[in-house]
Amino acid sequence: MDDHQPDPLARALAESIRDVPDFPRRGILFKDLTTLFKDAGLFRAACDALVAAYRDTPLDLVAAIESRGFPVGGVLAYRLGVGLVAVRKLGKLPAQTISAGYSLEYGEAVLEMHADAVEPGQRVLIADDVLATGGSAAAAARLVRELGGEVVAAAFLVELSQLGGRQALAGLPVTALVTY
Ligand code: AMP
Repeated sequence: MDDHQPDPLARALAESIRDVPDFPRRGILFKDLTTLFKDAGLFRAACDALVAAYRDTPLDLVAAIESRGFPVGGVLAYRLGVGLVAVRKLGKLPAQTISAGYSLEYGEAVLEMHADAVEPGQRVLIADDVLATGGSAAAAARLVRELGGEVVAAAFLVELSQLGGRQALAGLPVTALVTY
């Protein structure tokens, strides 16, 4: 039982997440959400909670970060009735892209978005599974803003608060269902 979680949903989600020590590198405690995603009731409850958080927020798009942000972002876009755009790792998107480099808990990387993914003035919610250092979400936010979009908020299932992701997102409203 995870007694540190403040509410029953957070406790249930925390109990369903598998900790994998030393993955993908020694010293990283990887939060494996595949064990949450495969539980139909918990996956639905988690998505419902994020949908409820943004139901009254005017939005045009969800920008989902590859790859575990896709199931979360896809459900959010569908349930909120807005479009879905992909923030992908280098070289995966087929058409013209813009890119942003960033650091993460275990390395350096580049994220890309199609150059026509966001129209100027569109209101965008960023979605991913885990907020760690915030590097990837901050890079996604830079991509959206480069295209003239407005980043309204960022939604995660899990936040690893000791890694300072919220601070890296510099005042952007953040929702996370489980905080460690
Ligand atoms: P960051 O850019 O540092 O916030 O890292 C967030 C991204 O890396 C997310 O897409 C996560 O899936 C992944 N990630 C980073 N650290 C972890 C971790 N300890 N456990 C699980 N996923 C992680």
